[in-house]
Amino acid sequence: HGILYLVPTPIGNLDDMTFRAVSILKDVSLIASEDTRNTQKLLNHFDIDSPQISFHEHNSKERTPQLIEKLKNGESVAQVSDAGMPSISDPGVDLVKAAIDEGLTVVPLPGPNAALTALIASGLSPQPFYFLGFLPRKKKDLLAELKELNKRKETLVFYESPHRIKQVVETMKVAFSDERKVVLAREVTKRFEEFIRGTIGEVLEWLNHEKIRGEFVIIVEGNETIDDEENPWNNWTLKEHVESVM
Ligand code: SAM
Repeated sequence: HGILYLVPTPIGNLDDMTFRAVSILKDVSLIASEDTRNTQKLLNHFDIDSPQISFHEHNSKERTPQLIEKLKNGESVAQVSDAGMPSISDPGVDLVKAAIDEGLTVVPLPGPNAALTALIASGLSPQPFYFLGFLPRKKKDLLAELKELNKRKETLVFYESPHRIKQVVETMKVAFSDERKVVLAREVTKRFEEFIRGTIGEVLEWLNHEKIRGEFVIIVEGNETIDDEENPWNNWTLKEHVESVM
């Protein structure tokens, strides 16, 4: 059987491509790319001439069985997305599940990822953290989701597009509080990399005065005021708990 390699690609700085990622992409029979034209630029830069096939959210249903067939026939396949880790708010997970179901070998490579890279420089606690990816688009769903997340103690990590970021932070002010710490990690690994750190109120002030461009990760401090005592489960002694389930 061939091996399915999951290969991360740079999130803005080509030097972040790993030696192993280059050598795997050179060796495989086929590269399944989210956008073949985009990935071709990367392949040209590193003199990689392996053939590509498109694999994105709109064709993954048809493509998955085709790629599984190739793997079963002994061909190795590397899956890549436009940037960062495959499957992280990107295509890939369906193919991985199908390969596992077929008993095929899945080999992940470590590499660039916007969420973790932003998190380690945020200054907010990286343990525990809760990665959500993209928030719901509709205003009502956005507020409901954030209110739900207000119950969490973990540091929260989001992806967001530049034209929505202000609306999202404004909604966070309503769902969380003015004083909650937030970090905007902008253009990570790129020329205009910048970290905007402050309270939600302060960061909103910044958003109101800036022309908002580039890619962003939003990191928010967890809700430290959530009281464990309010959760009845935590007040039960183990004995009571055991008795109640017996
Ligand atoms: N698979 C990618 C990863 O592993 O990070 C994420 C892909 S997701 C479709 C794209 C989102 O990731 C962007 O909207 C932005 O929120 C975030 N992102 C990607 N590159 C970034 C960068 N260089 N700086 C900040 N955020 C970035």
